[in-house]
Amino acid sequence: SIVVTGATGHLGRHVIEQLLEKVPADQITAVVRNAEKAADFANRGVKIALADYNVPATFDALFSAGDKVLLISGNEFDKGRVAQHKVVIDAAKAAGVALLAYTSAPGSLTAALADDHRATEEAVLASGVPYALLRNGWYHENYTEQLAPVLEHNAVVAAAGEGRVASASRADFAAAAVAVLTGEGHENQTYELSGDEAWSYAEYAAELSRQTGKEIAYNAVSVEAYQGILTGAGLPEPLAAILAGVDASIEKGELAVRTGDLSRLTGRPTTPLSEAITAALKG
Ligand code: NDP
Repeated sequence: SIVVTGATGHLGRHVIEQLLEKVPADQITAVVRNAEKAADFANRGVKIALADYNVPATFDALFSAGDKVLLISGNEFDKGRVAQHKVVIDAAKAAGVALLAYTSAPGSLTAALADDHRATEEAVLASGVPYALLRNGWYHENYTEQLAPVLEHNAVVAAAGEGRVASASRADFAAAAVAVLTGEGHENQTYELSGDEAWSYAEYAAELSRQTGKEIAYNAVSVEAYQGILTGAGLPEPLAAILAGVDASIEKGELAVRTGDLSRLTGRPTTPLSEAITAALKG
């Protein structure tokens, strides 16, 4: 089987949809916390397994020898994601899976956000399980799903200076994961996945202006000021610090690295940011 954790998340949904185009539904297992959220998959013949990274026993006997498993990193920053991921890695090892793919962070990223990913990668390597590290770059959706305040204030506010971002859509990253899960020869490979083009925030603001007909400016602020803006908008302090840290990394060019791995794996160019903006504006 091809087994996907986090299957009811944004990325996981794209992965399951794209797998359904390539393999019979009964060869796909969606690992979910909430069966109701996966009812649409079940109706189409996808197998559903209930499991929670916080409850190790739920992963007992979930995998079988020869499975190809995609571990989609969790989003519970306050619950110890490395320990959560180790639950899946241990279960994959015990079962003798053929491949364990993990959605990691770019090798170039030094921001604190990457710490859990580095530690998880180490655990994957230490397990001895055949692995594929999918080092996902930044999603277009990190921007295009946050357009409301931008359009309200006619400003893109960030602490990224003139840094550039080689982002791609979640669907692109999902396509790379599907290529690895359904293809051959990906054992013990590390892929640095990113968009084909890297854009600056000034260019992003200019593209927003072009598509909306409004004058939208890039307002570059300091990392400290940005963190204050985020907490002022209601984000918890630790999360604001993490996001501000990412902007500092962007200014240093850490999310601008383009290797071509993503378009090579999928066999097509990555989605241009302008296209993602158009789709988001249509709502
Ligand atoms: P989502 O937040 O949409 O999905 C996270 C998934 O993880 C959900 O399916 C969620 O389950 C599952 N999950 C969380 N905690 C647990 C748990 N304790 N047990 C089992 N499942 C759990 O994120 P995306 O799909 O957009 O992105 C996937 C991952 O990539 C994120 O979790 C994060 O680690 C990382 N990420 C990467 C970004 C980038 O730009 N590259 C940006 C943002 C996140 P449920 O559906 O039940 O909630």
